[in-house]
Amino acid sequence: MKDKKNYFGHRISKSLGQHFLEDDFFIKNIINFINPKPKEIMFEIGPGMGALTKPILLLNDNLSVIEIDKNLVNFLKKNIVNKRFNIFLQDVLKFNFRTFFSENKKIRIFGNLPFNISNKIIFYLMIFKDIFFDLHFLLQKEVVQRLCAIPDTKEYGRLSVLIQYHFNVTSLFDIPPTSFFPLPKVHSSFVRLIPNKFPPILLRETYYLNSITKLAFSQRRKIIKNSLSGLFSENEFLKMNISPFLRAENLNLLDYCRLSKYLSSKRSCLHTNEQKNEY
Ligand code: SAM
Repeated sequence: MKDKKNYFGHRISKSLGQHFLEDDFFIKNIINFINPKPKEIMFEIGPGMGALTKPILLLNDNLSVIEIDKNLVNFLKKNIVNKRFNIFLQDVLKFNFRTFFSENKKIRIFGNLPFNISNKIIFYLMIFKDIFFDLHFLLQKEVVQRLCAIPDTKEYGRLSVLIQYHFNVTSLFDIPPTSFFPLPKVHSSFVRLIPNKFPPILLRETYYLNSITKLAFSQRRKIIKNSLSGLFSENEFLKMNISPFLRAENLNLLDYCRLSKYLSSKRSCLHTNEQKNEY
């Protein structure tokens, strides 16, 4: 019934990150942690053959799923007949969650994400965080360690800073490769993300946070006086009480927020002066 290429009649696609969860113990745990209520708006990314979809539908009657693989969508349509169940055959990275947000009820997102594009999906979902109630994902363990990482560790990076600005992150439990088919090479972790209403500094927009972290962590061995020299002078770092001799991994979320706020106001001052000079 199943071999490397075939999963109960389904042709497994490696490029779509298809590793099907088949361990009832962990499926139960996942459902318990998500704890769906009947009227909540639930949305699953990558339902596959419905390992999580089916038990969620027993508890909730407002579930939508998005799946990119047409064969799996056909399988789900045949096997799950339920009036309150919507299926989108689409790439989640092109899905506009705002069109879906109609009842003013926040959406609960969950899924066993395709590992190869899980970071992309997480970055993409950040732009919709205001309409999400919470998100529960099964991810590569190493990615979850990076999401939760604190400064001065090797796991701490741009993903940690950005995700922790947008969400409160809790790693819930680990799942071994033997719980999936086909066997992935890595361990997985189940994680909860809750939109962070109170980041250390509320930024008007995260453009500068994105660009500063990109620059700093792309040269993480350099001290910030050098890696961020195009954006801040040594004096400006000192003015903000941030040592210019630190490296990207030594700065915490508050430091990055302060740098972003400073740069944003410096740029808008420059912009205003440039506009003035035009007259
Ligand atoms: N939820 C199922 C389970 O736990 O057994 C399957 C999880 S499998 C790791 C990831 C699923 O995401 C696959 O069904 C795959 O086809 C789907 N997928 C991959 N890329 C996608 C994308 N860009 N948009 C939507 N679904 C995608």
